[in-house]
Amino acid sequence: MTTRTLLALTLLIFFCAIAFAQPGANEMPSVIQVPAEAQPSSHFDATAATNAYLAQIPPDKTARSDAYFEGSYWLILWDFLYGAVIALVLLNLRWSARMRDLAERITRFKPVHTFVYWTQYLVLTSILGFPLAVYEGYFREHKYGLATQTFGAWMVDQLKGLAIGIVLGGILVTLLFAIVRRFPRTWHLWGAVATTGFLIFGALIAPVYIVPIFNKVTPLNDPKVVDPILSLARANGIPAKNVYTMDASKQSTRMSANVSGFATTMRITLNDNLLRRGSPEEIQSVMGHEMGHYVLNHIYKGVMFYFIVIVAFFAGLRWALDWTLQRWGEKWQIRSLTDTAVLPLALLMVSIFGFVFTPIDNTFTRSQEYEADMYGLNTSRQPDGFAQAAIHLGEYRKMSPSPVEEWIFFDHPSGHNRIYAAMRWKAENMKLFTGQP
Ligand SMILES: [Zn+2]
Repeated sequence: MTTRTLLALTLLIFFCAIAFAQPGANEMPSVIQVPAEAQPSSHFDATAATNAYLAQIPPDKTARSDAYFEGSYWLILWDFLYGAVIALVLLNLRWSARMRDLAERITRFKPVHTFVYWTQYLVLTSILGFPLAVYEGYFREHKYGLATQTFGAWMVDQLKGLAIGIVLGGILVTLLFAIVRRFPRTWHLWGAVATTGFLIFGALIAPVYIVPIFNKVTPLNDPKVVDPILSLARANGIPAKNVYTMDASKQSTRMSANVSGFATTMRITLNDNLLRRGSPEEIQSVMGHEMGHYVLNHIYKGVMFYFIVIVAFFAGLRWALDWTLQRWGEKWQIRSLTDTAVLPLALLMVSIFGFVFTPIDNTFTRSQEYEADMYGLNTSRQPDGFAQAAIHLGEYRKMSPSPVEEWIFFDHPSGHNRIYAAMRWKAENMKLFTGQP
């Protein structure tokens, strides 16, 4: 593709984007009333209260968020297939071998050679993957009223992401190729250890060094918001001194919060959409949930879980690469496992594994989220705030999926199940609300 065609295409996409943009069209009101059925009473019924909350969402909004979320099921498949086709093109047309030859002409010094190959690979696959990426990350988000960015700003974020991918991905890939060269028999074990170590390093630096590349993170000063959160933190033995906020509204209307980092980089962050649209009860219930992740050591349990998964994956990768290279290695002009031209094949294996692994991955995460929900209800004692949060999050998730759908596709409990859990908690703690034993 020439530069001029690329420019023309970009301009065309830009003008279409303006026509599509309708920021905030999907927003639910900030203050959601506690429905009559969910008010404290002697005849309180958790199911009736749940249904009354769900009935607050207008049917057209439900149809819209269902369509958005169900579309994402298909995107998992299209992303996988599209990526697989790109990998097969790179291998069969021997573009990967040519990128290796070019990197060799530049340098034969192995680490730099690997880095040069990786840069070419990532730039080329980003260009080939652009049509699907722009649909998924830009047009589709605008169509459902979830995005707030202009095309130019979105594109800048993509380029920043590409640059970070070149640097961080380049470090990991260079490290892994060095391991394959150094330990021809046991590389899969050391590769798994190095990958896990690298993921921990990434999680450690992300809140402090990566997030600020895209968004402005500032300490939150408003005592009305901060004091109850820090009080909740102290009560739960969490050493947080500051609560941070970030301008997520720059990109999207989504509300969210998180606990990120390890040890000294650990921090609580609320995004500005939650601050702007959430009631105090809602914010406290979300913070209780986030503190649950911290107190229940979800980060460390996650590291252990993914370490086991990565070890299993690398063992499979070793076997699969040997098998494929024996058959097609010559045709693809890949000399051996230490040849950088093997990379698209290895990453194709990663995506096949990731695709098959989706339901297990989601179920692991969803189980932790459910634990954090229970912890959050117990510590914040804000079941109605939590129900409101579930409705807000329902702007981009399906509220009432089937159990099988939830098992395969949901990385959080569904909105219906979250509201029901809150109302069940309220029913069992009715004395807190009625003042009667
Ligand atoms: Zn969570």
